[in-house]
Amino acid sequence: MKKIPKSHPRYASLVTREKLVEGVKLGVTAMQGLIAHGRGETFDYILGEKTRDFALKAERAAVALMLLAKHPVISVNGNTAVLVPEETKKLAELVNAKVEINVFHHTPERVEKIKNYLERYGIEVLAAGDAELEGLESARRIVDSRGILIADVVLVPLEDGDRCEILKRHGKKVIAVDLNPLSRTARMADITIVDNIIRAFPKMVEMAEEMRDWEKGRLREIVEKYDNSKVLAEAVDGIVEYLKKVKGELLNP
Ligand code: ATP
Ligand code: MG
Repeated sequence: MKKIPKSHPRYASLVTREKLVEGVKLGVTAMQGLIAHGRGETFDYILGEKTRDFALKAERAAVALMLLAKHPVISVNGNTAVLVPEETKKLAELVNAKVEINVFHHTPERVEKIKNYLERYGIEVLAAGDAELEGLESARRIVDSRGILIADVVLVPLEDGDRCEILKRHGKKVIAVDLNPLSRTARMADITIVDNIIRAFPKMVEMAEEMRDWEKGRLREIVEKYDNSKVLAEAVDGIVEYLKKVKGELLNP
């Protein structure tokens, strides 16, 4: 991987890009994943590249929902695999979730490569592809009968809107990580974390370490009080405020 000086003002963003490029070379990340990441970065930029209050709220509700679930599953694609493998392992252990590979640009070779990649981090991976989610045409319909098929809660980072819709139609609660609060995914999910996955996952690991010992009633209260429409509206406000601040700086340097 190319060495990037720590002092570079865009250090985190450049390291992330290098990881994704490396992922493409390994056959783990799809080329299209680079484009999707670019869209994400744009929104991160106009959100100030920080984990904001609305994201923290969603992250806390997501951890609570996973801790309360019977069969929580973390669905991993080629971007998630290379960006947050260690945190995926930790989070799955803390909330007792299964990890399943689910990709849009599907080939058996690519799934195998992602599986091998994650197993090197000590993650037990589901990728049997022995079941289908009815009503979905893309390869994301292919699921594991021990994972997403029977899941009650699915964490789907960097998801696309149509599968999110189908998961919901199959009666599952969906948690999305999506920097774009306007996307179909963001509006369709039960809990939308408008944050960069490279910040969201470490934060959720931290929260899960604390919350795993909490009483069920306390977790349930967090989930019940959570309002996704409000959180998305706050994210849009966050963008508006950030843009106004920058506008002010431009006019009064
Ligand atoms: P939809 O189909 O839901 O309307 P879309 O077509 O924009 O949305 P895709 O391109 O299918 O979505 O998926 C990529 C989404 O993931 C983008 O909305 C982007 O904002 C988000 N994304 C990409 N990289 C990251 C990241 N590192 N952290 C969080 N979100 C990200
Ligand atoms: Mg899409």
